[in-house]
Amino acid sequence: MARCEVCFRHCEISEGTLGFCGARTARNGVVIPDNYGKITSIALDPIEKKPLARFYPGSNILSVGSYGCNLRCPFCQNHDISWSEQAMRFAKNANYLNPGELVEIAIELRDKGNIGIAFTYNEPLIGYEYVLDTAKLAKENGLKTAMVSNGTAELSILKKLAPYIDAMNIDLKGFTDSYYSKVLNGNRNQVMDFISTAVKTAHMEVTTLIIPDENDSEDEMRSLSAWVGSLRNPDGSGVPLHISRFFPRFHMTDRNATDVDLVYRLAEIARENVEYVYTGNC
Ligand code: SF4
Repeated sequence: MARCEVCFRHCEISEGTLGFCGARTARNGVVIPDNYGKITSIALDPIEKKPLARFYPGSNILSVGSYGCNLRCPFCQNHDISWSEQAMRFAKNANYLNPGELVEIAIELRDKGNIGIAFTYNEPLIGYEYVLDTAKLAKENGLKTAMVSNGTAELSILKKLAPYIDAMNIDLKGFTDSYYSKVLNGNRNQVMDFISTAVKTAHMEVTTLIIPDENDSEDEMRSLSAWVGSLRNPDGSGVPLHISRFFPRFHMTDRNATDVDLVYRLAEIARENVEYVYTGNC
């Protein structure tokens, strides 16, 4: 058995099997990323779509994802590449791009407004080695780097990546421990530690998806936004908060989409504490 130290689960992985995330395996007693360079999604996206509202606004960024996830959000909007059975087909079927090939594509796209590479779509940190190798090379070539994550990797992993990542959008999916542990199978304190450490070196934006009857109270938004409002980006500006509307998806189809008026009301509450608040999916 080999123990994985990447996220809070600390899976014990026996030779040739997969950890909880479906992306890491053990070979010769060592844990390695089985999804290294296996690309399931690639697109030149507007940076606002990450979402990053205050990092090179108006630019595009080459966005890539692999497969697997270490959380179990029942409403996952990307379940076909995250944790459904379907997602695991990519272990054999994904296209392989080594870091050099991906950086080459990013450079070729500069004349289409591309500023760099964003690691997104599935959880990038479960395959952090690919992020690290590619981001290093991207920086050497004058590209910007961004990462969209659930923020549940260990801080030792963040420390390795921090010098090479310019911007992050991290999900803070709610502000109660019970929601994180019972609904998402995750850990809220770890996400908060991750965000408050990462914001020291990278431009940070935070996203909260509002799920009816789970994390949609005004009190919860008051507490969450007060915490986000206490953070400062490296340039001294406030950390933007994106409040997004939920749509029934995947294993959570027992409720309607979040009421648009509620999203706007929660955004108003957040503005009492946070300088830049954006609504999404409305
Ligand atoms: S990254 Fe994957 S294998 Fe490693 S501890 Fe987390 S869930 Fe387990």
